[in-house]
Amino acid sequence: MGLKPVVIERLSGYGGSFIGTEGMTGLEIKYTSGENCPMFAGAYNPNQPYGVKNAMNTCLNFHHWIPQHKLYENFFGQMNETIDWLEGHGIKFADVIAIGAGPKIWHVYDKGDNASPGGYFMQCFGKEAENLGVEAYFDTYGRKLIMEDGKVAGVLAEDEKGNVLKVEAPVVVIATGGYSNNSEFLYGVSETKNVNIQALGMDCRDGDGIKMAKDAGADMAEGLGTVMWCGPVTLGAITATWTTDAYSAGVQATVDQYNQACAAAAGLDGEDTSADEEFGKRAKYMHAVDAGPYWLCEVGDGYYTTCGGIKVNEKTQVLDENGEVIPGLYAGGSDAGGLYGDSYDVKFAPGSQAAWAVNSGRLDQRREGVFRLKREKQMSDCSDRDSDTLSKEGPQANDPRAFLLQSRKPSSTCLPRGAG
Ligand SMILES: Cc1cc2nc3c(=O)[nH]c(=O)nc-3n(C[C@H](O)[C@H](O)[C@H](O)COP(=O)(O)OP(=O)(O)OC[C@H]3O[C@@H](n4cnc5c(N)ncnc54)[C@H](O)[C@@H]3O)c2cc1C
Repeated sequence: MGLKPVVIERLSGYGGSFIGTEGMTGLEIKYTSGENCPMFAGAYNPNQPYGVKNAMNTCLNFHHWIPQHKLYENFFGQMNETIDWLEGHGIKFADVIAIGAGPKIWHVYDKGDNASPGGYFMQCFGKEAENLGVEAYFDTYGRKLIMEDGKVAGVLAEDEKGNVLKVEAPVVVIATGGYSNNSEFLYGVSETKNVNIQALGMDCRDGDGIKMAKDAGADMAEGLGTVMWCGPVTLGAITATWTTDAYSAGVQATVDQYNQACAAAAGLDGEDTSADEEFGKRAKYMHAVDAGPYWLCEVGDGYYTTCGGIKVNEKTQVLDENGEVIPGLYAGGSDAGGLYGDSYDVKFAPGSQAAWAVNSGRLDQRREGVFRLKREKQMSDCSDRDSDTLSKEGPQANDPRAFLLQSRKPSSTCLPRGAG
């Protein structure tokens, strides 16, 4: 496509929380089309194969029709070619399976010589990016978008020593993974006030991209504050056994109460919930906690990622508060909102987050590639944008560290002023 991407990454290599993933949704892929296209009793239309349209309606229905229909159409409709594209760049899929009673569309990656499938995915992908000559700056934080006349003109980044890097670019894709590791941010935008929530994954997601977009005038999508729950996770070590430790004294009353409820449940029909007055657990699941030993641990509500974020249109272009496109600004992965209502659709689109992370990047680049190729034909003279001029213009001019600015000008971003 003629693009020359520059990656700014705060960690010391490629991966992010994506290395935790195991698989992604795939619809009407060669593994899930024709006679392999699954039927799914939980589908919007259970009598039709679970292809793009059926899955889209099922997910939109699950999300109470909050997300954007067109964005879904582009996302789900592109999965097919994205899996081919990934395979063309060295990613291998080990299996296509179902999660629980869901449809068989979870495309699980091969883990090669790595401890995890996601780790191997990113190991291969990182190598491929290097082979393709992608210019990457690791241990470097994206800090601020450079805006000129309401359009994106690049980004300011900073390395760990405080050196500032300026990248000129008519297109910036924000993908900093949401705000899972910033509980203040999460509590600020969500109904979730549970102090026992626990983010899984890499500690690198502080909401930086969302804040940068907000500073540049971006609106937030409905569903801000939604997280991808994964179930209970232990908080700290499992250290106490209730039969022996002092800690167990605190739980003895609870255990006694529960055991009494179990005794009351003993003569009831298995579906009867009356014995457990507190939680309404069915009688068939009420088993007394007897002599033990049992291991005690504190659990919290674990979550993999936040899913709500920047408002984008069907091309993942960022929208401002008037619903207008901010030229040149795109968002993807967990920074972009608009795909979920109030929870993750694991039963209907298992792996939709990993699939979204990859597909949202491709929606950006494919469309922008066409745009830029057209623009490059019109390119005249871009030599007016030298580094002396760069350090004097733009929002960084008032930055006390402006003297540290180092201009980066990837050749393909050398477009006429106003391109964006
Ligand atoms: C244990 C675990 C298992 C999971 N399993 C699955 C699964 O099987 N299927 C699925 O669909 N989803 C799964 N998820 C969710 C999935 O990981 C995320 O949805 C996905 O990684 C989001 O991609 P992303 O690119 O938006 O964010 P990330 O993968 O987190 O990448 C964001 C990147 O931005 C970088 N960054 C942050 N701030 C800055 C900054 N200021 N400047 C520069 N760089 C910055 C981070 O360092 C990071 O590398 C799982 C998550 C976890 C934690």
